[in-house]
Amino acid sequence: MQNKNKLPSEIVLTYKIKHNYDLKNLLDGFMSTSQKAVDIIWENINWKEKQVKHRFKSKNKYKYYTTTRLIPEIPKDKDFKRELRNYLLNGWNFASHYVDGAIKVAYSTIESWKSNYLDGKRKRNKPTFKRPFVRVKNTLIKYDKENGTIRITIKARREYLILDIKNEWFFEKIKGFDIGEIILKDSEALITFKKPLNIFDKKVVIGVDSNLKSLDLFHPEEGWIRIDLSELRRIKNVYDVIIDKLKSIYKKAPKRIGILLKKYYNRRKNRVEDFINKLTSQLSKLFPDAIFIFEDLDKLSMYKNSKFNRDLDRTSWREIAKRLKYKSIVFYVNPHYTSKTCPVCGSKMESQEGQVVKCEKCGVFNRQFVGSFNIFKRGVKLVKKLLGGVGVLPERSDGNLKTVRFLCPWLGWRSMIYSPMNPEES
Ligand SMILES: [Zn+2]
Repeated sequence: MQNKNKLPSEIVLTYKIKHNYDLKNLLDGFMSTSQKAVDIIWENINWKEKQVKHRFKSKNKYKYYTTTRLIPEIPKDKDFKRELRNYLLNGWNFASHYVDGAIKVAYSTIESWKSNYLDGKRKRNKPTFKRPFVRVKNTLIKYDKENGTIRITIKARREYLILDIKNEWFFEKIKGFDIGEIILKDSEALITFKKPLNIFDKKVVIGVDSNLKSLDLFHPEEGWIRIDLSELRRIKNVYDVIIDKLKSIYKKAPKRIGILLKKYYNRRKNRVEDFINKLTSQLSKLFPDAIFIFEDLDKLSMYKNSKFNRDLDRTSWREIAKRLKYKSIVFYVNPHYTSKTCPVCGSKMESQEGQVVKCEKCGVFNRQFVGSFNIFKRGVKLVKKLLGGVGVLPERSDGNLKTVRFLCPWLGWRSMIYSPMNPEES
């Protein structure tokens, strides 16, 4: 779980725009250069033999056997890299920085192959590029923030490509951002924008409990905040009904229904993405000084035997956390018993009818309030551990319920319903 909680140093946003430039030569050249770089690095890999021990169970006893594996050592020394660069520059017609980009692409492709290979997900086959693209290094890009123009050098001092983003829908969103890398394709460009993220701007921790119909937040000052997800459920259901129906008649006309299925899958995906995008943008804007804490629901599979008496929509949870991570800071905590631990005394609670959980000593609570509160508490601990607690938490977020408003629904609470489609307060 620790590796999931890496501290981001910047916010990175990526947007796609169309272009009308004929880039065939550059695209093909970049791809074949990247491939050449892969070929040469591959030929120079040093395969080291390693004995790997395997364990298996037989008649309740563990037995062992060993196999020999080849572990790749990728050449990275300066001399090798310089020679590779010089070789690739030979006959290269475009700006030389593109060759550096191609080498970077080649290395990252081989590195990702290597980690998959070591995990047993890939065989010992050299990676190959199929679709042409160009990774444009920052040194080739000049960005005029005021006028919204991006100039990319194609050939040094001779040929440029200009992208005008002033009238693009996202121009307002990237005010104050610097430009990052650009990926050029046949008729479009993927542009990244970056802004440094200062962790010490973050003053509060918000616990986020994902449920089927709502996202429940616990904020140390605002208390329990409920975000209505019923519109997201509705969107999913509408398309699931259509998709199920199409699947049931698939055999009658596989080709035609296949096309329709693809169409509805795409529509479902786009509408869900749109909803989650709006939701996470609002969250990051409403709470610009917050670190968001989610449960690591992937960890739930470790506790298969324990009963999780709650409705979950894992795809929504994963997408919301992932999207929010582009716009703010997201950390994950252990999900075990978050909805069953008493927020006052910490003892284990029993589920009651409906959305209620009961502590023998302290009384009844709303399950989702309890979930978000316990996630918040674990988040406070985690943030203190990761960041040393410096300037991050206000006094009252120590989890002492007496100092927090909105104790429980029956003792008076305020909830704010904030749906991206229909924002309203109640
Ligand atoms: Zn209790």
